[in-house]
Amino acid sequence: MYKKLSIAILILNTFCCNAQADEKNNLNSSEVEMLKNMTKIELAFKKTEIENISFADAGKKPLYYESDCITLTKSLVAKKTETNADQSMKFDESNWSDAIDLKEQDTATVNQLLLDSQNKDAYQLFRLLPRSVMWWIRINKRISLISLATAIHETVHDIETLLRSCGDGNSTYIFNSHAWKIELRPGNTVNFSIAEESIPEKFKMVTPANSNFNTYIIQSKNYPGNDILNAMDEFNAYTLSAKLETDLTSSIVYEKLKTGGLDFYSGNIAGMSDFMLYTLCYLKVARARYPLTYKRIKNSPLMLAHLTRLWGSAENILDIAYKFTLRKGGIYSVNSDLIYTIYLPEFISELDQLGVQHAELANWNKTYFYK
Ligand SMILES: [Zn+2]
Repeated sequence: MYKKLSIAILILNTFCCNAQADEKNNLNSSEVEMLKNMTKIELAFKKTEIENISFADAGKKPLYYESDCITLTKSLVAKKTETNADQSMKFDESNWSDAIDLKEQDTATVNQLLLDSQNKDAYQLFRLLPRSVMWWIRINKRISLISLATAIHETVHDIETLLRSCGDGNSTYIFNSHAWKIELRPGNTVNFSIAEESIPEKFKMVTPANSNFNTYIIQSKNYPGNDILNAMDEFNAYTLSAKLETDLTSSIVYEKLKTGGLDFYSGNIAGMSDFMLYTLCYLKVARARYPLTYKRIKNSPLMLAHLTRLWGSAENILDIAYKFTLRKGGIYSVNSDLIYTIYLPEFISELDQLGVQHAELANWNKTYFYK
């Protein structure tokens, strides 16, 4: 409540004191109107500032080497608990050594936008592997909500790949400023494409709004690395970037997306929802037909703990994202029917079988199922 109040005061202050500055910058009346509705933080990134940024050359897609492993490993410290039973490592900010150059206009802007979003994971990813984040921004030649979320999504993959190859080969996921190592290694479980068997037909449609079924289920059928660990890497990347998409809703990049002529944005929030369903479908088929895979998952408490973490976060994000969906006048595309299906007993009970906590169908009555 206190925080809400202080934000309201900030808005009033900026409204009062920036009116003259707006005129000097020759903004048109609708832009001035837009600025009136922004908080002080957003005003740091007026439309013109975002559009006139100079971008450094993207160069080749970054490759990572042994030295990156050393740097990344140095930035991780064991969490100080009696047993550290969850085997997590915390990122130590004082050890960030892949320095960012804030003299570069594009880097400085990304740095500020991520700081202002108050999304700690996204900012941390940027500071740990700025080369990756900036490469994705620079090849897009724009700083937008989409390029930012994409850059963070892809950097999650880069860091998780590095963490796995730096360590003992076990999969490691980043979440909430920690690196969470789990028991399983690539190849321990059957291909994620088995999920197809229990995915309802209506969610197999490949439309411009959703090609995820095609990408992650159909095209990856014969790709041996596409197991549940790879799918969790994807679910993790979607969830962290979906959180960024909700955290950016009070920023200029969201406003620009909304007013920029795009009808809808089916990004990381939609992808995260797809992975909620795909994960349940995979578990369902594995339980029925692939007993060894299922047994390995069931006997991996660290993996199930991470699934619990991701699932809880995904539910929180869906809850917050609702007011920014198309039906509420926002830009994010989230399929209510998909949410409904996820929480049908025949799917959600897969989590109960493994002791993974979750919300219930009725929890969404006031949002996604509201008529
Ligand atoms: Zn991905």
